[in-house]
Amino acid sequence: MPRVAEFEDDKPHEECGVFGVWNAGDAAALTALGLHALQHRGQEAAGIVTLDEAGLFHAHKGLGLVGDNFGEAKVIASLRGPHAVGHNRYATTGETALRNVQPLYADFEFGGFAVAHNGNLTNAYALKRALVRRGCLFQSTTDSEVFIHLIAISLYSTVIDRLIDALKQVQGAYSLVALHNGALIGARDPLGVRPLVLGRLPNGGLVLASETCALDIVGAEFVRDIEAGELVVIDDNGLRSIKPFSRTESRFCIFEYIYFARPDSVMEGTPVYETRKNIGAELARESGVAADLIVPVPDSGVPAAMGYAVEAGIPFELGIIRNHYVGRTFIEPTDQIRNLGVKLKHSANRAMLQGKRVVLVDDSIVRGTTSRKIVEMVRQAGATEVHMRVSSPPTTHSCYYGIDTPERADLMAAKHDIAEMARIIGVDSLAFISLDGLYRALGQPARDPNKPHFCDACFTGDYAIPLTDWTDNSDRQLSLLQPAGQ
Ligand code: SF4
Repeated sequence: MPRVAEFEDDKPHEECGVFGVWNAGDAAALTALGLHALQHRGQEAAGIVTLDEAGLFHAHKGLGLVGDNFGEAKVIASLRGPHAVGHNRYATTGETALRNVQPLYADFEFGGFAVAHNGNLTNAYALKRALVRRGCLFQSTTDSEVFIHLIAISLYSTVIDRLIDALKQVQGAYSLVALHNGALIGARDPLGVRPLVLGRLPNGGLVLASETCALDIVGAEFVRDIEAGELVVIDDNGLRSIKPFSRTESRFCIFEYIYFARPDSVMEGTPVYETRKNIGAELARESGVAADLIVPVPDSGVPAAMGYAVEAGIPFELGIIRNHYVGRTFIEPTDQIRNLGVKLKHSANRAMLQGKRVVLVDDSIVRGTTSRKIVEMVRQAGATEVHMRVSSPPTTHSCYYGIDTPERADLMAAKHDIAEMARIIGVDSLAFISLDGLYRALGQPARDPNKPHFCDACFTGDYAIPLTDWTDNSDRQLSLLQPAGQ
């Protein structure tokens, strides 16, 4: 069955959450909880691989939400052992087949190896083509399998050296967790585009997770972010940090702060909720407008709208109510239902909007389809003026680093200037936060084009990691070899 999101959700999507634990009483249950806290990063599939004291691996994976797959006690009980890795997947391309659900597992001569990753490799196609020519047989269309084959053919002897050998061949943005017979491993790409944090359980066990909200849910104390380009090896002797890459300035994904991360997470030392309020305040300073109400587009626009309202001195009201109970497999998207689209998820709070000049605050405009319907809904509810303020700069470029965004041709801001966008969406005025304003809200100086602090390529087209698979002109006849997002 299709998802409601397929016909009414016009947001970029995070493409995965990862979680790993070493030395926990009940590793599978903790991992299921951690994945549950990371559910916003991927809702298509979930998987857990555990390792028991006898060195045996146990796995369970399935399509759907964490609760759909790990809600039964017997499933958790079957995943024995004190060590685990887990993964939430959001599929970007191709089928959401079970064979693509992570963690992926393989048997090597050094023992079992399970790997899960968040991000996207930008030379996966080139690597897959070379690997297939060497005789590797790919079982999935995920980039993660590239790691498995690169490890398999590496001439190094230890698993860590083989993994480092693999990491040095891949390009892209990734945070990965891996489990083998001797250790839990975590790694971030050299620019640290995707997040990964380290926590400690009350029993001293160590946890790796995409976000701090997953540490909180399992009662783990935040220790630190895994650094850009760092590989950590966690075993019974503690944690060993390895820096296999030459040092470069990191480029953390700025969109994590705007939209992807859960608001109660802290990323790279910066609380997401506070940051979103700061962005809203900056937006009010940059593009304030006379109005009666500040109304967030729920839920993701709420903190920015709060910051905007306080800065502008205009009341904040929930003029749009979100239905949290829209099922993922609720209804077939026939044309008639597709036209109802946004109303399944949002409805106007008519009593609040009637006769008011409204500023709608949203976090992003991607295709613009949802924005247009929301504005129409707010006008039908009696608003006399509708202004829209957006807490990100115009999304003019696609993301190739692990976030599902449409092709550039489908991005509204790539095709239209702001005045045209305002006309299409149907607002009285439209403004986006400036890039420098966004950096200011994050406590940074204005963006230095020669040394930007963040990855902001979807706003600037400044892609810091080479887009090898998109720039070479190799034939792409083998469907198996198509780059597939994670
Ligand atoms: S291109 Fe945009 S969404 Fe993708 S990693 Fe960079 S900032 Fe994040």
